[in-house]
Amino acid sequence: MKVAAVIVAAGAGIRAGGEKPKQYQYVGDKTVLRWTLEAFTSHPLVSQVITVIGQGHQSEYQAAKRGMSVVEAVEGGATRQESCRIGIEACAPSAPDFVLIHDGARPFVSHEMIDRVIDALHINAAVIPVMPVSDTIKFTQNGIVQQTLDRASLFSAQTPQGFHFEKIRAAHTAAAATKNAGLTDDASVAEAYGMKVCVVAGEPANRKLTTMQDITIANLEWSARQLSERPDVRVGQGLDFHVFAAGKSVWLCGVEIPHHKKLKGHSDADVALHALTDAILGAIGEGDIGTHFPPTDPQWKGAPSAIFLSKAYSLLRALNGQLANVDITILAEEPKISPHLSAMKTALANQLQLDPKRIAIKATTTEKMGAIGRKEGMAAHAVVTVRLPL
Ligand code: MG
Repeated sequence: MKVAAVIVAAGAGIRAGGEKPKQYQYVGDKTVLRWTLEAFTSHPLVSQVITVIGQGHQSEYQAAKRGMSVVEAVEGGATRQESCRIGIEACAPSAPDFVLIHDGARPFVSHEMIDRVIDALHINAAVIPVMPVSDTIKFTQNGIVQQTLDRASLFSAQTPQGFHFEKIRAAHTAAAATKNAGLTDDASVAEAYGMKVCVVAGEPANRKLTTMQDITIANLEWSARQLSERPDVRVGQGLDFHVFAAGKSVWLCGVEIPHHKKLKGHSDADVALHALTDAILGAIGEGDIGTHFPPTDPQWKGAPSAIFLSKAYSLLRALNGQLANVDITILAEEPKISPHLSAMKTALANQLQLDPKRIAIKATTTEKMGAIGRKEGMAAHAVVTVRLPL
């Protein structure tokens, strides 16, 4: 039995406000979409995940799925219904038995919830999770109540909605062919083409994040969880210096900055990443960069310093620790760093999967004092806060 998942994340997310679509906003240490993707990629029965993304969202999507191999993406259509149809078609070459279609903006779906839908698919061709309605529901026209509906038989539909693959594929194909558009969930498509839709219990936590307030509340809940799960707050700092040599660029925070000199060192001499690596290692008492990557070892010659940072970060993660913030100051008389600060921040946010709001990178000169003032080299200082379980 083969189960595919289609994650629908093509919406512009404009209701949430903010500078990015809501699926690319951070809740704690991950974007909304990353939480959603991890819920499915970590489920043992789901063997394929297709994400339907919006046009122009390719770079945000690549950052959100960094390091995940099983996820593929297709570009969505003009409506949710059309995006779902495209996502379902993208699954067709691998011929799954079941497909789960899930909103990218429901990041807190549990494995138990996914299990309930898959279990019910063994005896039903269409399964949706639902929640009882707690408010009394009024049917109105022109601002006047026409009828009070019996809420005992009313439910709100959640996702993942599960289907026998070929059946929902046929229903979507038929809906597109007959221009039956504007159906707001896949169960509506199934119902319109005669499929019987069975319901299973949804979950309150499996709510859809729609507004900026929803994102704020999710962040407050995440912070409260952090406080109870990782109460051990530690600070680490790192300091690094490199001298200039003849060259054509310097590397800072994983970004290559054109310059008529380079920084001399065994690796790519990314002074900022070295300071940051030492700061993380310092916070967890794991020695320094030289402990893990001896400069005498030829395999690190010319190596990108991202390798060192990844090692420090994985040691932190192995302790179930979390990076809370990063603050880096670069000391240099040249080259001019300010035009590159934004690219450097993006590169770090992507590598560490950290909300850019938790990263600060600053640059200063030494007012021509000392060796750095004489342009003999540059330095970087990094401070990090990490949270660890007790
Ligand atoms: Mg160094």
